[in-house]
Amino acid sequence: MIETEILVIGGGVAGLLAATKATDEKLEVTVIDKGSGASYQSSGVIDVMGCPLGEATLKPIEGIAQVIECSPSHPYSVISSERNVTNVIKDAIRYLTSMASNRGVEFKGEIERNVVLLNTIGSFKLTCFYQSTMDRGVLHKLEGASLLVTGFKGLVGFNARFCSSSFKHFASKFNIELRKTSSTELSLPSLREFNLTIIELARMMDEDDFRKDLAKKLETEIAVNDVSHVALPTLGLKKPYENMRIFEEETGTSVFELVSPPPSVPAQRLMEALEEEAIERGVRIFRGYKAVGFEGEGRSIKSVTLASGEKRFPAKAKAYILATGKFIGGGIVEERDKVKETVFNLPLYDEKGEPLKRQNISRLLAKSPFPREGHPLMGCGVKVNAQMKPVVNDEVAYDNLFAAGSIISGYNYVREKSGMGVAAVTGYIAGMNAATHVEGG
Ligand SMILES: Cc1cc2nc3c(=O)[nH]c(=O)nc-3n(C[C@H](O)[C@H](O)[C@H](O)COP(=O)(O)OP(=O)(O)OC[C@H]3O[C@@H](n4cnc5c(N)ncnc54)[C@H](O)[C@@H]3O)c2cc1C
Repeated sequence: MIETEILVIGGGVAGLLAATKATDEKLEVTVIDKGSGASYQSSGVIDVMGCPLGEATLKPIEGIAQVIECSPSHPYSVISSERNVTNVIKDAIRYLTSMASNRGVEFKGEIERNVVLLNTIGSFKLTCFYQSTMDRGVLHKLEGASLLVTGFKGLVGFNARFCSSSFKHFASKFNIELRKTSSTELSLPSLREFNLTIIELARMMDEDDFRKDLAKKLETEIAVNDVSHVALPTLGLKKPYENMRIFEEETGTSVFELVSPPPSVPAQRLMEALEEEAIERGVRIFRGYKAVGFEGEGRSIKSVTLASGEKRFPAKAKAYILATGKFIGGGIVEERDKVKETVFNLPLYDEKGEPLKRQNISRLLAKSPFPREGHPLMGCGVKVNAQMKPVVNDEVAYDNLFAAGSIISGYNYVREKSGMGVAAVTGYIAGMNAATHVEGG
C-alpha cells in the first residue's frame, strides 16, 4: 500500500508541476504513472495561446483576453474568475522553466509575444516559450541570413533539401527575406546510414568523438557554402549547449536546433529535466502503476486502487490530483459508443461546458471528419471550478479531488496552441490548492 499526503495520478507536465508545487509546502507528495502521455510527444516548447478562436496571433495576451470574453468554459476563463490570469500564467511558466533550468534546460521567450520557429518537416511552429537551443532560429532574427539546413544520411523523417526550399517560402509569408538557403546531407564514419532515428543521433552527439567529427564536417561544408546560420535537426540530448558552442566556434556561424514532431529530442530533454527536478525536491515517482478505480465516502475520496501487472493495492492520501491527460495520456478513453474518464468515472463535458453527448460528436464528425474548428473530442474532459476541483452539475464532486492538464474540458489545444500553457497553469493551481486543502485551509 502507498500512503502519502498528496497523490498525483499522471506524471506528464501537469502532474509533475502540480506535485512539485505541492512539495513547496513541505508535504509528502507521490506521483504514480502508468507510462507516458502527450507531454513526451510534444515539441518541448511551451504554447500559451497561438490561435484564439481559430485565428493565429503573435500577441498571446490579447488572445487570452479574447478567449476569456468569448469562451466562458475555457480553463483561462474559469481561472480568471478568481485570479489575474496573465499573472498566474507568468508565475506558472516561470516555475516550470526554473525547474527545467535547474537541470540545465534553458528557455527563452515572453508572454507578450509569440514567435515563429522552423521545424523538421519543413514547416513552422508558432509558440511562446522555446528552448534556447532554438533561439538563433527564431524567424524574425533570420532576416538576411544565409541558412544551411543540415541533414544526415539515413536519418528517418528529415529531408534537409525539402526543408531548405520550404523555409524560404515560409519566411517570405512572414515578410522575412532569407538571403540564401542551402542544404547538405552529411555522412560520418560512425553513423549508420539507414533507419537512423533522431533520438539515436541525439545520443551520438553527446559523445565527444562524434561531436568533434561533426564539427569538422560542418566547417568543411561552410567553407564552400557562404553560410551565416546552420540549422540542425537536433543538437543532442544531454549536452546541447556545449555542442552548439563547439559548432559555432568551429564554423564561425550561428547554430540552432529545429523544432521537431515526435519523437522530439527537446520534449524528452524537458520531461527528463522536470522529472529529475521533481525528485530532487522530494517528490516520489512510481512509474508502471496504473490507477484503475477508487473508494469514496460521500464527497471524499478515501483511496485509489493501483494496478501493477496482476497485483492490485490501494494508495491512500489526504488529497488527490487527477492529471491523467486526454486520449494520448489515457485519462479519457473511447469504448464502443462511449467516451469515459478512466479513474473516478467523472462525467465529461464538451468544449462549451455542456455534458458530452456522443451523438452530437458523431453528427459533427459525420459532417466533416476534419472540422475547421478542430476535432470536437479534443475539447472534452472533466469540468473544474477556479480551484481546479472537478464539478458535476456545478457542484464540487469530491472535496479532496483536484484536476490539472489536458483532462480538463473547455479548450482544444490542437486548434488553439495552448497545450503546455494550460497544463502548466492548471498544474500550478491544483498543486497549490491541494496543499492548502491538506494543511486544513
Ligand atoms: C504530437 C503533439 C505535439 C504537441 N506539441 C506541443 C507543443 O509544441 N507545445 C505545447 O505547448 N503543447 C504541445 N502539445 C500539447 C501538450 O503536449 C499537452 O497539452 C500536455 O503535454 C498535456 O499534459 P498533461 O500532463 O495534461 O497530459 P499527459 O502528458 O498526457 O500526461 C498524462 C499522464 O497520465 C498518465 N496516466 C493516464 N492514465 C493513468 C492512470 N489511470 N494511472 C496512472 N497514470 C495514468 C499517462 O501515462 C501520462 O503520463 C502537443 C501534443 C501532441 C500530442
